Amino acid sequence: MPCFRCGARQTDPVRGASPWKRGVQADHQVLICPDCQAAHDWAADLDRCAGCGSAALVCRLGEVECRECGHTRDAVRDESPGLVRSGAPGGLSEEVAAALNRVLKRGPVA
Ligand SMILES: [Zn+2]
Ligand SMILES: [Zn+2]
Repeated sequence: MPCFRCGARQTDPVRGASPWKRGVQADHQVLICPDCQAAHDWAADLDRCAGCGSAALVCRLGEVECRECGHTRDAVRDESPGLVRSGAPGGLSEEVAAALNRVLKRGPVA
C-alpha cells in the first residue's frame, strides 16, 4: 500500500517495526511514509478517534478501532440497515401491561 499523501511505496523494513504509520481516511486503512510524518499536518486529512482525538486508528472488518484508547466504531460505508432492531426489548411495556391488568381485575367489585 503506498503512502496516502505522496504515493511513495513502502520498502521492507530492515528489522523491527516499520517506520510507516497506519491511519484511517474516510473509513479506509491508509499508510503514512516517514517523510510525510515529518510534515506538521500529516494527520490533518485522517479520521480521528471520537473518544480521544487520536489519528492512530486501524480499520478492519467494518470497524475502526483506536490504538490509543481502544474506542471502536462501525465503519460508515459498511453500516447495514439490518442491524436496526425494531420494538422494545420487553421490560417496561410488560410491566405497564401487568399494572393495567391488576387495575382492570380490581375494577368492578362484584
Ligand atoms: Zn508520503
Ligand atoms: Zn481514542
